[in-house]
Order: sequence, then C-alpha cells, then structure tokens
Amino acid sequence: MTADELRESLLMNPKNGLTLLSAQEREEMERYCLRYREFIDACKTEREATAWAVKKAEALGYKPFQPGMAIQPGDKIYYNNRDKAIALAVVGSKSLAEGVNICAAHVDSPRMDLKPNPLYEDGEIAYFKTHYYGGIKKYQWPTIPLALHGVVYRKDGTVLTITIGEDDNDPVLMVSDLLIHLSGDQMQKTLAKGITGEQLNVILGTEPLDGEGSDLVKLNIMKLLNEKYGLIESDFQSAELTMVPAGRCREVGLDRSLLAAYGHDDRVCAYAELDALFAVETPDKTAVCILADKEEIGSVGISGMQSQFFERFIDGLCAAQGVKLADCFANSFCLSADVSNAYDPNFPEVSDKRNNSCLNYGVAICKYTGSRGKSGASDASAEAMGHVRTTLNNAGVIWQLATLGKVDQGGGGTVAAYMANRNIVTVDAGVPVLSMHAPIELVAKLDCYETMLACKAIYLA
Ligand code: MN
Ligand code: MN
Repeated sequence: MTADELRESLLMNPKNGLTLLSAQEREEMERYCLRYREFIDACKTEREATAWAVKKAEALGYKPFQPGMAIQPGDKIYYNNRDKAIALAVVGSKSLAEGVNICAAHVDSPRMDLKPNPLYEDGEIAYFKTHYYGGIKKYQWPTIPLALHGVVYRKDGTVLTITIGEDDNDPVLMVSDLLIHLSGDQMQKTLAKGITGEQLNVILGTEPLDGEGSDLVKLNIMKLLNEKYGLIESDFQSAELTMVPAGRCREVGLDRSLLAAYGHDDRVCAYAELDALFAVETPDKTAVCILADKEEIGSVGISGMQSQFFERFIDGLCAAQGVKLADCFANSFCLSADVSNAYDPNFPEVSDKRNNSCLNYGVAICKYTGSRGKSGASDASAEAMGHVRTTLNNAGVIWQLATLGKVDQGGGGTVAAYMANRNIVTVDAGVPVLSMHAPIELVAKLDCYETMLACKAIYLA
C-alpha cells in the first residue's frame, strides 16, 4: 500500500462539512436555518421557548400529560413545567422497559434580570437595577440596544406578558459606559472589574413629570407603565422581568455561512431537538425531548434538570405500561444537547486544536466537560461514545469531537451529569459556538443542521 492509501484507511481525515453536502442537502440546510431563525427571534427567554413549543406541539396533535393517562404507540404527549420548561414524548412501539431515547437541551440564557425593587431615579435619569443571570462578561453589556421581556403577576392575580424593544417601532433600553476621555482609571482595571454588577443599570427615561417634589422622572416612567400596562410599582415584587439584547438573528459573512443571535446557547440545540422530534411518527423506543430551565445557574430549582419534574413525566408514562421507572432509566440513552466552544483562531492559546470543535465540521460530540482533572464531568464511557459514533455514522450525520479548552484552562458543565445521576447513559453533543455567552453569539449553519440530524438519529436509534 502507498502512504496515501494507508493514510486514507488508517488515519482520521476530517473534512469541512460544507465540502461534503450535496446541492439538495445545502437547500435543506438553508430551509432548516430559516425555521431556526423564526424560533430564535420569537424565543429569548425560557418562558417564550416553552410557550412556542406548547403551541407548535398542540398544532401537531400533541396532548398534555395527565397522570394515569393511557398511552399507545405513536401517541404524542407534552408536559409543561409551569410555563418555564417542557418535556415532549412520542410513544414508541417497544415497551418503556426497554428505555427511552432522550435529547435534553436548555432554553435559559445569560441575561440581566431586574431586581425585585428595580425602579429608581438618579441625576434626573430613571433606571432599572439588574442582577445578571448566568456567566457574563459584564463589560460586554453596556452601549448595546436592550429589550425588556417577561411576566408580571399583578395585584389582582392576572398575569401580564411584556415585550418592549423588539418591534421596530418600540424604543430600546440601554446601559451606559464611561467615555474614553475620562477612562484613565477604568482602563487600568481588569476586564472583570471594568464594569461591575451594580453598574449594570438600565436607562429608562429622562423626562420629568410636570409637578412638585422629588423623583419626577421615575414618576413619569411609572405613569407610562401604568397607562400602557396598568402597573403600579409594587407589581415588580411579583415579576420575572429580564433585559436581553434587542434585535433579530442575522446572517454573517459575505458567504452567509454563519448566524448571529442572542442565546444560541442553548436554543440552537433546543430547536434542533424540537424540529427533529416533530418529524418523528412512531419510533421503536419512545423519543423524549427536554427543554430545561436554569442550566446557566446549575440546573437547580423546580424548572431545572435536577428537579423531580422529569421523573414525574416518565414515571407517568411507565405506569401506563406497568413498567418500573428504574427499569426504564437503566435502559435509556440521553444526548445532552448543549453547545461547545468553537476553535477561535483569535484565541488559539486556550484550546488544544486537535481536540477542539471547529465551525463547519458538524455536531460536536463531547466525551467530558468539567474542569481541572475532569471534576464535575459526566465523562461518557467508551460504550456510550461507541453508541453515538455508530448511530451518527449509520445516519450519515457529519460530526466531530470536542473538548472544553486546554487542560486546566477553565471549564464548565451541562445537564449531562444530572441525567447520568438518574442511571441514564449520557453523552454531550451540540453546536460549536464563537463568542459563547456574549450578547450576540455566532454559529455555523452547517453545524445547526447536522445537530438536528443527530437528534433525529438518536430518537430513532
Ligand atoms: Mn449551554
Ligand atoms: Mn451556557
């Protein structure tokens, strides 16, 4: 054999996915990305993603989960976790005792939540005080257009949904930064300290109400909120309002190969799961799609992946077949669908290039996350990686390997460890992202599309 032949048969030979797609696959990729853009533009919070999934699922014949309900192969069921997370299932032809195939993503993203008492005035400017949620570089959030999203549980018990800043006719909101001319002291600080959490105050307005006394600008803002939404200041005590980057997903690059948007992490995987599930009719094993909340702060809380909500759903389905939940979990598989760090040639020093995911090389399979000596990682077994390798290869999915940066460079986690704690074999996989957790993140269209194909292959495995 020649060296070329040996190289071909013995060595890995990764190729840019864009060189592998047929013209028809290209078209399907573009159509898929248009669908994804509609979703990401409509869903900037976990509540919006959950509401979107419920609406789409119901239109496709999914029925709400009821404990004690009977189930048949092909039944489509969803379980809405208090409007903040959701699990959906398509019942398979095999018994639940043989396990379920799960794809689990999260639909919360880093952002700036309003504090419980947010409204104040200083220097004749009205502001909201915020408390950031998830891991952000605080210096990235001033001087960009922001939108207000969320709900208010009003005094009379009615719930109001608010979105301000997304319609072209809406005003946007903004955090200010210091002018460079007077930034001598600020520029000496580290990036971590240049903008502090208590400086992430959002400008609401500057016009004073005509009248006597103090805080007339704040009073004017409250008057506007009252006229439009019937709000009084104490309504903020029972609200979930958050500031997110305003605006829509855009194509990036002269070749339009990338997509820029707020919150690709992890709605790019959440949408991949949903789009794939909606194409599944009656799988062999029951297919389960999870859109979880609170991943960015540790998968905690009633809507996070550590919550018993998931047990209640699967146990309810198992009960209909007289199957023990523990037997179902023991035979189940979970693709923890979460984004990875794409190799960034601007910052090569943080990655082991040979083991890092790259844009356009397909869905990134991650054996372990964690930090230091794999601390906190689920660390998938050889068998689990083998299952994913075989399943994706058989389905013709373009995929690659991923690790989260150089050894001892930093780290992170996903819902994988919490799924594995349930005695479910779990592997991480997802879309490589540039500028992860920045207000606007970048992904490659090809990787979005291949992640959807990977989810479909797992559901049908
Ligand atoms: Mn994530
Ligand atoms: Mn994240």
